[in-house]
Amino acid sequence: MSLHNDIIEFFGRYPDKLSMGLYTQEHDEIFFVACLSDKEKGTPFEVGVFELGQSMIDFLYDPDYERIVGALLESDSHVKQILEAPNDVARWVPLYLLLQAAQSQFFYFYLVQEIVTAYKSKMCRPDGTPYPIDYFCEIGRSYQRLRERVKDIVGVCFEETSKNGASATERYIENFPLDTLLYRDVSGEPVPARPYKEGEPMSYKMAEVLHPRMPEDIGNFLFFQYLKENILFKRCENCQKYFVATGRSNVKYCDRMVDETGKTCRQIAPAMTFREKRKDSPAEKVFNRAYKTLHSRMSAGKLSKELFKEWSKEARQKRDECAAGKITLEDFERWLVDGD
Ligand SMILES: [Zn+2]
Repeated sequence: MSLHNDIIEFFGRYPDKLSMGLYTQEHDEIFFVACLSDKEKGTPFEVGVFELGQSMIDFLYDPDYERIVGALLESDSHVKQILEAPNDVARWVPLYLLLQAAQSQFFYFYLVQEIVTAYKSKMCRPDGTPYPIDYFCEIGRSYQRLRERVKDIVGVCFEETSKNGASATERYIENFPLDTLLYRDVSGEPVPARPYKEGEPMSYKMAEVLHPRMPEDIGNFLFFQYLKENILFKRCENCQKYFVATGRSNVKYCDRMVDETGKTCRQIAPAMTFREKRKDSPAEKVFNRAYKTLHSRMSAGKLSKELFKEWSKEARQKRDECAAGKITLEDFERWLVDGD
């Protein structure tokens, strides 16, 4: 059966043991995926660099979240089947399809790839103990708990409230006094000191690198870093979603694309508020009154369409000049009444 060949090929392409790592450096959070057991041992083959705070926001709004977590929560019956005969490739089909459904480029979801490792090792861990039946379910539940925790902590600790000027850490202690930020496994490792540039020798420095066991490890590790650095999240005044605003406390809008044209909230929102504001300006009110009068005159046949068009074009110009302070409101009104 070709699906079986697909499965063997799919799992075969992966290195025997993948490891996801995460560390922070100044104002960045850096994710990487590396092989632990090949010739290229330790060489990262995927690296993602985010501004400190960004990955947590991306996780909160990730469109793949429901699909991936849903797939993981369904996995226990499949795992049960496999554990009865791990060498029977046919039994792997449902879990393979589930893994296909749970593919994501987002680093938080890399732990789903543990399924590949499980397959490679015939459902046994390096110490010989089999994976528990609900192991992948538990990864799914950990994603769920992490998502709830992000929602809780982000609003309470990192959102700018500016009322009492309390730091993120002070708010954390006050609101979550019993919570400890546990995470494992962390090891001290050399990491690139700066981004690789061709022709320049690589330079390294030491960092504490997290190799998460569960999704919540990622969350707790990052919460700790965010609290330490007093990260600031704000709600975008246009789309209402959180964005990272550390060091930019006067920014009101996010950089998310809002439509197919590729425009972002930051690009479109100021123009929208300008139109909103203009609605209430005295120049706009006077203009609207005159416009209605002349429009009904045109509808009644007392004014030609051409003249009305010409008038409204000129009136709009005068209105904008008035709003910009180039002519006074009195001048504008006089022009509307007398035409000069
Ligand atoms: Zn926005």
